[in-house]
Amino acid sequence: MSSRTPLIAGNWKMHKNGFQAVEAASQLKSLVIKATNVEIMIAPPFTALYQVAQALKGSTIGLGAQNLHWEKQGAFTGEISAEMLADAGCSHVIIGHSERRLFFGETDINVNRKIKAALSAGLVPVFCIGETEAQREDGETFSVLDKQVRDGLKDFVFDELSGLVVAYEPVWAIGTGKTASKEQAQEAHQFIRSLLDTLFEKPFASAVRILYGGSVKPDNVRALMEMPDVDGALVGGASLDPETFSKLVFFNH
Ligand code: PEP
Repeated sequence: MSSRTPLIAGNWKMHKNGFQAVEAASQLKSLVIKATNVEIMIAPPFTALYQVAQALKGSTIGLGAQNLHWEKQGAFTGEISAEMLADAGCSHVIIGHSERRLFFGETDINVNRKIKAALSAGLVPVFCIGETEAQREDGETFSVLDKQVRDGLKDFVFDELSGLVVAYEPVWAIGTGKTASKEQAQEAHQFIRSLLDTLFEKPFASAVRILYGGSVKPDNVRALMEMPDVDGALVGGASLDPETFSKLVFFNH
């Protein structure tokens, strides 16, 4: 287990209306009231953000959005800026999720712009990277991760990135029930951390949290969290039910 404070983050994707989101957030708030030495974040759909922010008042649970646009404002129909997310009560934002890369044409260049915008609005970017099954089978895992990290973090200096969270999410493990083994997760996380060490200053690389995402469940979270470079989890399916998600938060109990 790492010495960094773990972050357990839930990505609700396109699930839950306002009422359902507030119910789930309120239930989670009471379920995790005794959680210590762990940070928690949930990312509901845009339409529920403000309501969930109100429901989470008085708790330390962070609120995340699932995407943003890099411009502050303007003629960008359908888009939402980092400032708007902060105004709605967000503390975090997921950037570069594989579903956005796959279905909505998200590019590394735009991921880079989005990270910049998030940081300048005071949001914690949760920067997602990961290889597809075909890339893994072709032995390209490390070259894919290398390019995603270099391009996503291009032109930053390390002190601008403080607070950044990286999420390693092998695409073949997302929503498939196939989890990376703890050894596969550790190998990828170690690679990412040493790349960050090469690109930036040492204190940054050793402080940055690297989450694992991909079919994390109560029965596999503990093994993953035992690995020295795994600092938490980004969770989709198992974050929708507050009881199940709270078991991930208490992975150590
Ligand atoms: C995700 O979407 O980030 C994710 C990890 O999903 P799941 O936990 O359902 O695999």
